[in-house]
Amino acid sequence: MTAPPTLRLRLKKPLARGIRELKLLDPTISDLAGLITGVKPVTYTDYSESDWPYIKGLCDALGLVYSDPEAAAARRGKHLGAAPGGRRMLLLAKKPGPLKAATAAWGKSAIDRDWGILLGYPECCVDAYIRWRTGFHEKKDLVRFTAENTPAGEPWDFRLNNIVNYFSRVYGADERQSRLISDLNQRAGLLISIAHVASWHSCSYLCRESSKKAAAIFGFFEEYAPAYAAGLKRLLARPFLFVDKYDFLPLEKKAGAGWTYAYPALPLGLLPPARAAALKSAGALELAERGLKLGGSTLKTGAAPIILNFSSRNL
Ligand SMILES: [Zn+2]
Repeated sequence: MTAPPTLRLRLKKPLARGIRELKLLDPTISDLAGLITGVKPVTYTDYSESDWPYIKGLCDALGLVYSDPEAAAARRGKHLGAAPGGRRMLLLAKKPGPLKAATAAWGKSAIDRDWGILLGYPECCVDAYIRWRTGFHEKKDLVRFTAENTPAGEPWDFRLNNIVNYFSRVYGADERQSRLISDLNQRAGLLISIAHVASWHSCSYLCRESSKKAAAIFGFFEEYAPAYAAGLKRLLARPFLFVDKYDFLPLEKKAGAGWTYAYPALPLGLLPPARAAALKSAGALELAERGLKLGGSTLKTGAAPIILNFSSRNL
């Protein structure tokens, strides 16, 4: 398929004096773009000591402020535990006010409303996420929950496509699958931890507030790294067949009563071997009530399949 992923993004023009490239991780590129464009007042990342010269250089060049939230929490007598693997945590902001508030709020739960809003997520989306986490997350994956909350009929905003964004969507029991899908895609050239535009989970795939913020982030990529923006769009702006959290398939287009696809195509889902084999020999599929019609036979799926109608037309 494609070449192994590179961890640096070369910019079309300097972002600031001396900044001609950005790292894709630590901080995650979409969060950094959110901070630079003003979409996110605050973001956080973990990092290893060897990343510090890059992060410090970035903050100095872009006028970002930062704090060590765990050291601040320890001074307040809180012991939160270190980041994994001896890594450290860092809060980054454009302005001191939100940085101060985030440092004071560090250690709050991921379903704390104020914390979500400090990170720049729209209120409607924070509320929907809390509703899912508190009432639904064991019964229904967040993507299906969000799809059901999205009005039908209009093509959805690909910049809100979170199909492979497992951040805040994995809870212990499926950690193994989460690692498997990450390794599978990485071997094929795709880092799924950055395969999104908006890093947060929106309340609907047509949420106006989230679309506005995601458009600013995508605009940043288009301006500074147009090939990267085009790659994200190719990956995300298409219909998907969705069965469950790790069981999905990117589709090409509608054809008669069904859909055409190329298999395998990125991003890769974790599919049962019988379905993978059937997909390889057919080129189109149709949805059945609890399965798929593929090459003359019906294959059962673990849950009712649905179509996620992400499209480039919604620009
Ligand atoms: Zn929303």
